Amino acid sequence: MFMHAGKPMRGVAQPTRDAVAGLPQLRISRHPVVAHKLTILRDMTTPSAAFRHALTDLTVCLAYEALAAMVATPTRVRTPLEETDGTTLGERFAIVPVLRAGLGMVDGFLTLFPSLQVWHLGLYRDETSLQPVTYYNRLPRLATVDTCFVLDPMLATGGSAVQTIAILKEWGARSISYVGVIAAPYGVERLAQAHPDVSMYVGALDRELNEDGYIVPGLGDAGDRLYHTGNDLSNSENAE
Ligand code: URA
Repeated sequence: MFMHAGKPMRGVAQPTRDAVAGLPQLRISRHPVVAHKLTILRDMTTPSAAFRHALTDLTVCLAYEALAAMVATPTRVRTPLEETDGTTLGERFAIVPVLRAGLGMVDGFLTLFPSLQVWHLGLYRDETSLQPVTYYNRLPRLATVDTCFVLDPMLATGGSAVQTIAILKEWGARSISYVGVIAAPYGVERLAQAHPDVSMYVGALDRELNEDGYIVPGLGDAGDRLYHTGNDLSNSENAE
């Protein structure tokens, strides 16, 4: 692909929204609660504390949808009145937040399953090449779960997700799903081509990437919005 110095997506052809929206791997939430929380995240005036809160709430909804594909195992349970049929989730799963922005989605999953295993992978995106660079890997020695959920709010060029999933497959993960807040058609297409076996659960599919590789309309830099960093600190919250 042709890359312009300093503007890595200039001149790069991108698929349209319609071209990827029907891919079988892609599940775009239609839940109004997701749409409501996403609007809070998109709003540039939302302070970091409210942003973190909304992201956790939205992740609970996305986790609920992503976990719908899990196998339910029958069990018996005793109510205060009698014994009856019950169900447990029969599959073991772990979450893999991609640092740093993926950290903002951890509490949403832990709200539903407080003793989940959380394995951290650190990748950053080289702002010139947009290529992912791995700098931290805390996967256990052996793959001990059935399914891994990769958490990263923004599926932009897809580079980090593709690399994270390759690392997990090489390490022995059998079933992998991606969970994110906003995807760009370009990232969806790349992830589907590189890992056609991976399902993607997202809150929205946006129009495109801009020349700098940001999703538009998007929500800006998810890590900066979460942790109140970056150059645009006009929305100052020092008094909090
Ligand atoms: N990462 C972000 O945080 N935002 C984007 O729009 C793209 C990548």
